[in-house]
Amino acid sequence: MKASIINNQIYGFLPTDIEGVDTLAELALDLRWSWNHAVDEIWYKLDPDLWMETHNPWVVLQNVSRDQLKKQMDDPVFRKKMDEMIKLKEKSISEPAWFQKAHPNAPLSCMAYFSMEFMLSEALPIYVGGLGNVAGDQLKSASDLGVPVVALGLLYQQGYFRQVIDRYGTQQALFPYNDPGQLPISPLRLPNGEWLRLAIDLSGHTVWLRTWQVQVGRVRLYLMDSNDPANNPVHRGITSETYGGGSDLRIQQEIILGIGGCKLLQALQIEPEVYHMNEGHAAFLVLERASNFMKAKGTSFEEALACTRAGNIFTTHTAVGAGFDHFDPSLMWQFFGAYAKNDLNIDFNDLLALGRENPYNSSERFNMAFLAIRGSGAVNGVSLLHGEVSRQLFASLFPRWPKNELPIGSVTNGVHMPSWDSEFADKIWTESCGKERWRGNLETVGDISGVSDADLWLLRNNSRAKLVDYTRQRFTKQMKAASEWPEVAEIATNLFDSNTLTLGFARRFVPYKRPNLLLYDAERFIRILTNPERPVQLIIAGKSPPFDESGKALIRQWVQFIQQHNLYHHVIFLSDYDMLLTEHLVQGADVWVNTPRRPWEACGTSGMKVLVNGGINLSELDGWWAEAYTPEVGWALGDTYEHGNEPNWDAMEADALYRILEQEVVPTFYTRNEDGIPEQWVAKIRNSMSTLTPRFSANRAVREYTEKYYLPAAVNYLKRATKNGSVGKRIVSTKNDLRNKWNGISLGETTIDHVEGGFQYNISISLNAVDPNTILIQLFANGLNGELPEIVEMEVGEEQKVGVFRCHAHVNSKRPDSDYTVRIIPNYEGISVPLEDNQIRWQH
Ligand SMILES: *Cc1c(COP(=O)(O)O)cnc(C)c1O
Repeated sequence: MKASIINNQIYGFLPTDIEGVDTLAELALDLRWSWNHAVDEIWYKLDPDLWMETHNPWVVLQNVSRDQLKKQMDDPVFRKKMDEMIKLKEKSISEPAWFQKAHPNAPLSCMAYFSMEFMLSEALPIYVGGLGNVAGDQLKSASDLGVPVVALGLLYQQGYFRQVIDRYGTQQALFPYNDPGQLPISPLRLPNGEWLRLAIDLSGHTVWLRTWQVQVGRVRLYLMDSNDPANNPVHRGITSETYGGGSDLRIQQEIILGIGGCKLLQALQIEPEVYHMNEGHAAFLVLERASNFMKAKGTSFEEALACTRAGNIFTTHTAVGAGFDHFDPSLMWQFFGAYAKNDLNIDFNDLLALGRENPYNSSERFNMAFLAIRGSGAVNGVSLLHGEVSRQLFASLFPRWPKNELPIGSVTNGVHMPSWDSEFADKIWTESCGKERWRGNLETVGDISGVSDADLWLLRNNSRAKLVDYTRQRFTKQMKAASEWPEVAEIATNLFDSNTLTLGFARRFVPYKRPNLLLYDAERFIRILTNPERPVQLIIAGKSPPFDESGKALIRQWVQFIQQHNLYHHVIFLSDYDMLLTEHLVQGADVWVNTPRRPWEACGTSGMKVLVNGGINLSELDGWWAEAYTPEVGWALGDTYEHGNEPNWDAMEADALYRILEQEVVPTFYTRNEDGIPEQWVAKIRNSMSTLTPRFSANRAVREYTEKYYLPAAVNYLKRATKNGSVGKRIVSTKNDLRNKWNGISLGETTIDHVEGGFQYNISISLNAVDPNTILIQLFANGLNGELPEIVEMEVGEEQKVGVFRCHAHVNSKRPDSDYTVRIIPNYEGISVPLEDNQIRWQH
């Protein structure tokens, strides 16, 4: 049954006797306004205090008094604005966008995006950090670009914890309840008005999932939770926290996401060609999608997987192997023992094999990333460097393959610029590049040559002043909340200075981010901060995982540093880092500092958020900055090598960091021309804004995913799925046939004829009845001087005696023939090699 929104059932508890309330409700439930602020004025008018406090239109609408609501609805100005906004919304949904124009008649009707977290708005706290940021920003850009996406995730009853810091610097974790009625979401209802509930099986228990929808402009996000009164209490709590509990809880969350998500799509009769796994958490969808295919087309599981994987895409965000979820075989048995038999009709060990490096190692744990790889038609990391790191991490799945041929590409993340730009920046960009600048292909975005130095500097001064103001307010509130700290509350109201060079540092407090690197030599750092002519101020924020004592110690170290040296006018730790705080920080900071231990920062996104606002990055050459940095756009730390736990490395990097601050950042900021403008600084701003902003936008990332992955995946999936999966069936039979005959292939006598400009290479190969049309025979030479290897296809010539073929290739090369060796790889039905068949046979 198709589900739809039936207004009076969602909005039933709003006053029905005030005409037009349903229009307001429709506006309030669209997260478009979290980046397009055109409607803010409406919520402000209804309840200024509550709006400023929550930035949640849905809360405002539900809490506004009837009198006030009636008064506003009777005001023609208010009505006009409301009517305009609903028209704007309708127009932006129906108008063709980039996707419709660039890819008319595309074979992609729907892409389903699965993620454990989404960071869309502070009004919907179902995120922890970077992963949710990527998901949220890409959804928003998909809406801008008209890419047909539905997203699936979990509705956490508490989300991630809220942070309070006591006077000793100790982080306290609070878990306020996410009341679904107050979140900008609505229950997903069937046409008959029933709430769509899904039943899934968790180790023999039927567990009910409640379903919700979130409107994100053109795009819809569906959320599931298990807090249904019909469930027993253990099950009701599965979706209570983001990444809470141990593996027992995690596996159940991931089953709800991957398997529940597929069931939800089925219930809605949505049939995406492409499924995108944002990290391995969602990988159980591989099994459920194949299971549905089996049932619909009458194939085996293996055949169904061969068909469906062509339409699955896996994005990995992890830089170390330990970062992937691993489950114990016994835990897997508990949740998948019956599923393997009943839903996939395979032996449980064959299911486990999909998540193991060595399928026959019965003690090996089940790795979600391995399942995702074995269930995908394409895999990517999230920056150029992370692509390389990932090829190393997954090399063991492709034994004897050269690293550069491992089937893991990269799409560097980007951020949704309209969500992070300040009103000042928005004005400058609009004047130079137009209102619709983030909705097309960005060809013209970046040309800010018409903006004067004075205007760019004014942008910075305004933005910094606004941040200083916000810092005072927020810190005052923070101090009042921690009431045992009255002496600091006093000074909170006049902290900082709006003309002082302002650094921002905000991220999760985990050791690899080295959030205390700036404290390495406290005396030297204090000298930099408190230089009377050229002072520096720094705002820090970040949460440590609640049970991570090392992360909590890092926070304590900062708070105590500030206290002991009475540095409140130069350094402030703002608690409860969230999206709203990020917005202020990235808009106001002059310099964004990032000090991860390379190569752990797979990509990093917070630094991209300052680009649009004229902030400059000072960062380790890791993640995105390793590909973005040039001396014209910012400052770099590190030497592009990994140093592991080398004992002196932190000391050297801290020294370099201080040196960059002392000798470059501070002097460049404070050296002014006769108009009071720091010319060199403004030149850096201009370069960074114009060259990096379009490149590191989610607009670019989503278009790249669409063209490089979604569209080809849709074509491949459809090709394989036709005629009840006949291509998939042939893939399986060819693969098995090759596997059986592979070891019997033997490479025989070689002769080389030297000819003008190169040589002719001949080899006799006994194919052991392998069909020559299912393989490629290649001459391979390692690349010289770091270049890519040279590969020349060989032709299969006449059959010399039964099953033995003379193969040859002509090579135009000055290199000695001894540099070359023959290899054989699979090649059939357009499969991706070595992703889908990792056989390789080398002559030497
Ligand atoms: C942007 C953002 C992140 C991710 O930043 P990284 O640089 O990738 O660590 C995490 N949390 C919040 C609240 C953010 O806004």
